[in-house]
Amino acid sequence: MNQLVERFLRYVQFDTQSNPSDQACPSSQGQLVFANQLKAEMIAIGLTDVSLSDDGYLMGRLPSNVSANVPAIGLIAHMDTAPDASGAQVKPQLVENYQGQTIALGTSGEVLSPEQYPDLNGLHGHTLITTDGTTLLGADNKSGIAEILTAIATLVANPEIQHGEICVGFTPDEEIGRGADRFDVKKFGAQWAYTIDGGPVGELEFENFNAASAEVIVHGVNVHPGTAKGKMINAMNIAAQFQLMMPADETPESTEGYEGFYHLVAMSPSVAKTTLHYIIRDFDQDSFAARKAFMTEQVAMLNQNLQGKGRVELVLSDSYFNMKEMVAPHPEIIELAQAAMADCGIEANIKPIRGGTDGARLSFMGLPCPNIFTGGYNFHGLHEFITVQGMEKAVAVIVRLAEKTAQTYISKENA
Ligand SMILES: [Zn+2]
Repeated sequence: MNQLVERFLRYVQFDTQSNPSDQACPSSQGQLVFANQLKAEMIAIGLTDVSLSDDGYLMGRLPSNVSANVPAIGLIAHMDTAPDASGAQVKPQLVENYQGQTIALGTSGEVLSPEQYPDLNGLHGHTLITTDGTTLLGADNKSGIAEILTAIATLVANPEIQHGEICVGFTPDEEIGRGADRFDVKKFGAQWAYTIDGGPVGELEFENFNAASAEVIVHGVNVHPGTAKGKMINAMNIAAQFQLMMPADETPESTEGYEGFYHLVAMSPSVAKTTLHYIIRDFDQDSFAARKAFMTEQVAMLNQNLQGKGRVELVLSDSYFNMKEMVAPHPEIIELAQAAMADCGIEANIKPIRGGTDGARLSFMGLPCPNIFTGGYNFHGLHEFITVQGMEKAVAVIVRLAEKTAQTYISKENA
């Protein structure tokens, strides 16, 4: 079996599910067990300065093999799997030469069908790796780790391929939003990086939402209902009024593409005090600011209408920002990725991420960091799968990206 598939199948045996209710870093011990294994493998492949921090950040570098001044680029993947489905005792199934059939996932009763997942129709002849229907697969993001290390091993085995310094970083706890928290950008040493954490072949992402949360806190007055006349102020009624003041067609269920939204995610209701928890999302900085201003105005208006019979407070806090702002000033980061894909016969599929990524946070920490495909599908659930051909393309793109970057800067230096 080829090295790439062997690595991937070996990695998914490690249970590295992260745990949002554990405040430790990493949030689960399994991630450290896996990290130690990877550390030994990185050293064996020939990476230098391999280090694993106590909090589970694993880094190493492949020194440049050219004398020219080529920028150091980073490759990043995460070691944890999503809390949404079990990642213990993963038993992958290999389906060779797929021909469009519905695939039974082990004896679980779960199936993978082209009716439900039309992407399968484009994968005839490919080798699929699926779950047995009882766990997730962990292609998110162990395929990224297998692809990065296979690409590095390819560069080591083929010294005629020119490349600058390549910095490799594997992070814990991405799935619970903490992967960038303790990432040491300076120690990592790259000028920019790519997370290898996307989906189908061709995916290239460098735009994500600007994100904020908003708490609308309504203060009412509670009195015994038997003697409440003229005294009780029911905070829940005021909260309901507020929600109706929000645009009904600017919600997650009625938007797509580059459209932003307000989303009432939860509420804590009572007569005396009701809190509405919203998230605000928008790709554009100005309309993101306008959304926050709109909520502020609506709160002011409602307070005015209440004339002291109840009071509404608003607490806004920013969560993360669109990485485009940090990536756009360096167009070569995207151009090189697109060109590397084109050289591998792949047309880059650039689309905005309707969410956030660790790459977005790293971008604002000084490490511009777009996202490249892994070849996987249906992350975070029992129907997760990946193709061997897609993984091989990811390896080819990473190798070509390293080479292309070196060639580009060598010819700049000679110009
Ligand atoms: Zn991921």
